[in-house]
Amino acid sequence: MGRFFSKRLSGLLPYVPGEQPQDMQYIKLNTNESPFPPSPKVMEAVSAESGKLNLYSDPECKVLNNAIAKALGVESDMVISGNGSDEILAFCYMAFCDDDTGVCYPDISYGFYPVFKDVFFLDGKAIPLTDDFRVDPDDYIASGRTAFIANPNAPTGISLCLDDVERIVKCNPDNIVVIDEAYVDFGGDTAVPLTYKYDNLIVVRTFSKSRNLAGGRIGFAVAQKSLIDELNKIKFSFNPYNEDRLAIVAGAAAMEDDEYFKKCTGEIIRVREMTAAELKNIGFDVLPSKTNFLFAKKEGFSGEKLYTELKKRGILVRHFKTERIKDFVRITIGTEEQMNVLLREVKEIIK
Ligand code: PMP
Repeated sequence: MGRFFSKRLSGLLPYVPGEQPQDMQYIKLNTNESPFPPSPKVMEAVSAESGKLNLYSDPECKVLNNAIAKALGVESDMVISGNGSDEILAFCYMAFCDDDTGVCYPDISYGFYPVFKDVFFLDGKAIPLTDDFRVDPDDYIASGRTAFIANPNAPTGISLCLDDVERIVKCNPDNIVVIDEAYVDFGGDTAVPLTYKYDNLIVVRTFSKSRNLAGGRIGFAVAQKSLIDELNKIKFSFNPYNEDRLAIVAGAAAMEDDEYFKKCTGEIIRVREMTAAELKNIGFDVLPSKTNFLFAKKEGFSGEKLYTELKKRGILVRHFKTERIKDFVRITIGTEEQMNVLLREVKEIIK
């Protein structure tokens, strides 16, 4: 570490994003993006807006927040948007976590939760998933900590039912519970309606997966107005123009094009089920997914080897070295054609 780097952060282990090769020579099934382009209405909105890039964007992101609120059936003052849901999650860490309480999250979950814990100097408790890789709601009852729970969880793909989510929120009345619904549009149950009932619930979402806009960097949170006001306090103390002009109009247009959204998510769910069935046919254990990815392993075949062999054949999937999940690979659902290529190559590799 250089002599000028913060001593307090000297032990920081940054989040490691999935590989992002810039030459597009791979079938890219490693970072849970959509294989489909953004809605044509997004392209139109972006090109109409680009001539105004000399002017700052709306710090209140009104056009975007109104479109989100309308689509989700909540009030506009219950929404804050940000530069990807990563930024919104960071705002939650800044606004709602303290030295004496700290945070908790499942031990196998989104890799950013423990990184933020370090960046913001918090005490973190990683709560083990059950043996079958589920979040056990009982482990989060009266935790005394701010809880971050991805639902559905990543990289497992497994979803908690709404009753379980509600129980966690209800049993932590003095702590914020953040439900990260990055993948909820692929078959999970959203906790958004519960935000009216509970003043300690924040639901975080992203446009990166189901709205085909990973490169647009748009995320948002839904919660009661008082919590959104506090998140805005952080945002306006950190990066008031956090959404650029193109992101604001792109997000609004994507939210308004419900038909395109349903077509894309419906197709991904169909292809996911087809792929899961095929993988099971050839002897894979596939966890039950409500997301746009599958978490799968083949007994006697290491996850790392499968990842490496697939990469040699031009297909990128994600492998994690963490002990408990090192036998698995995480496979993003692409187009049907891409998944057929994947299945063909997997069959060759395991032969
Ligand atoms: N939460 C979870 C569970 C995720 O998997 C991701 C994507 N890596 C994010 C949040 C962040 O998404 P984004 O910043 O692209 O909105």
